[in-house]
Amino acid sequence: MTVECEGEDGSEGKSGLDEVAEALGAPIGEEQIEVLISAIEHFSYCPRQCALIHVEQVFEDNVFTVRGQLAHERVDEGDEGVAQGVRVARGIALWSRRLGLFGKADLVEFRPEGPYPVEYKVGRRHGPHADLQLCAQALCLEEMLGVIVPRGAIFYRGVRRRHEVAFDDELRRQTREAIEGLRAMLEMERLPAAPNDARCPNCSLGDVCLPAVVAERARLRGLQGALFHPYDAQTAFGPDEEDGGGERDA
Ligand code: SF4
Repeated sequence: MTVECEGEDGSEGKSGLDEVAEALGAPIGEEQIEVLISAIEHFSYCPRQCALIHVEQVFEDNVFTVRGQLAHERVDEGDEGVAQGVRVARGIALWSRRLGLFGKADLVEFRPEGPYPVEYKVGRRHGPHADLQLCAQALCLEEMLGVIVPRGAIFYRGVRRRHEVAFDDELRRQTREAIEGLRAMLEMERLPAAPNDARCPNCSLGDVCLPAVVAERARLRGLQGALFHPYDAQTAFGPDEEDGGGERDA
């Protein structure tokens, strides 16, 4: 049932419940491509990796991705309820109609000062890429719940420690910028160039991406030329084979 209500400006609008129902089951924007929150970390780490996964739909497991999947399953299976006086919820669906985002929070603690999202990662901290993913979760919670989300944390299983992240103006700006860059990349449906740098050795998509090959333009052009060179049967086998392999000299 749709309940019409009057907005602050006197205009008719939908109730909050209708907005929630729409957000769960309907597209977020008319024209806007929706961005998966977890893709923001991929985009920040390497736009080409993000495009391989979210444009080309390629995903290769390695030891790090398998560990990550197992870690998230363990979080999802954890207990909900109240811990040390704080209500804890796991696997919460998130969305932002304004930013065109959707995804999931591993865990949210509902502290007196506001919701506190916690993202679980394997290994140890490697740069600020996951901070942008966590900040996007905070932006969704703020829009969904109408509250301020000042901080959250990333739990790194490799060192079993939380790294607290403050959602300051600069991180919010970087996160919005990443969301727009990611959306533009999804709209173009093109693979960005491969940086072929220190990020590549541990990337699960190395065998698909071939960064050392595609980064060398001259070598790439040579391989592309060989790959698409028209097949010339006469040159390859001679006239006997071409007409069906007739009699040969003994
Ligand atoms: S191998 Fe390197 S360039 Fe290719 S997707 Fe991975 S990090 Fe990016």
